[in-house]
Amino acid sequence: MRVLVTGGAGFLGSHLCDRLLAEGHTVVAMDNLVTGNTDNIAHLAGNPHFSFVKHDITNYIYLAGDLDAILHFASPASPVDYLELPIQTLKVGSLGTHNALGVAKAKKARLLLASTSEVYGDPLVHPQTEEYWGNVNPIGPRGVYDEAKRFAEAITMAYQRYHGVETRIVRIFNTYGPRMRLNDGRVVPNFIKQALNGEALTVYGEGNQTRSFCYVSDLVDGIYRLLLSDESLPTNIGNPSEMTILQFAQRINALTGNHGGIIYKPLPKDDPQQRQPDITKARRILGWEPKVELDAGLEETIAYFSGRLGKA
Ligand code: UDP
Repeated sequence: MRVLVTGGAGFLGSHLCDRLLAEGHTVVAMDNLVTGNTDNIAHLAGNPHFSFVKHDITNYIYLAGDLDAILHFASPASPVDYLELPIQTLKVGSLGTHNALGVAKAKKARLLLASTSEVYGDPLVHPQTEEYWGNVNPIGPRGVYDEAKRFAEAITMAYQRYHGVETRIVRIFNTYGPRMRLNDGRVVPNFIKQALNGEALTVYGEGNQTRSFCYVSDLVDGIYRLLLSDESLPTNIGNPSEMTILQFAQRINALTGNHGGIIYKPLPKDDPQQRQPDITKARRILGWEPKVELDAGLEETIAYFSGRLGKA
């Protein structure tokens, strides 16, 4: 296949490029580098099956030649990023998704949309199944991301139903691993950076809120299987192993040998209290489930951040 990866220089996009190339496909990565970074794809330079195009997909996408699939992953994805880039976040989820679907339609390519557990908002159903419609505050600070992704799902389903475009929708839950941006503000880079610097970890609120962390290789495997599957309705991919943020902080301090302790900071507005994917559907239709244990994934991630901080 020849595959376009929007957001191809980002954390997930770049890992997807690697997986696609390893499977023998040809990849065009597209990114405007607002939150992506060419460091993430530097190792692919010179690969004849790989090319990179710097482009903001909220503008018309021109791509010559045949195309078999689009992995649409372009978007700021950290709460701190989308608070700083609210308009860009809304535009890439709406205009960017519209343009990507236009390419899929014109090229008769399959499009896989990167959606998110944020479509469930601060969920009132736990764990979250794909049938749950969510509890989202449209005008809150996270609304720019949540509603952009909800719109993206809606227009993707419309292109599928009205134009017959083959589409897939993955709802991605918290994912971590090498190539996350050190300063993206999410809990994994924040805690690891603080721990490696011997500082206190900044737990927001009392740390009772929960998350379920999936290692990037597991996530990429689930997405690749979904792309090749016949499933056109949204599918959760994530790790159901749930913990409180306080427990997570304690784990990071233990793994890094950090004695800096923990400090408490205010809980951001609309921060979801509980999050755990119900992956019954992915298990059933994709034969997929996560394999990497938290400690093993964190060791890899800590090693990566050590290198970035010059502490390797
Ligand atoms: N969080 C925290 N300290 C930090 C960064 C985040 O306690 O330095 C919390 C945040 O309030 C949320 C959870 O960790 O409850 C996960 O936050 P993240 O920004 O990684 O992503 P989210 O899952 O909220 O989209």
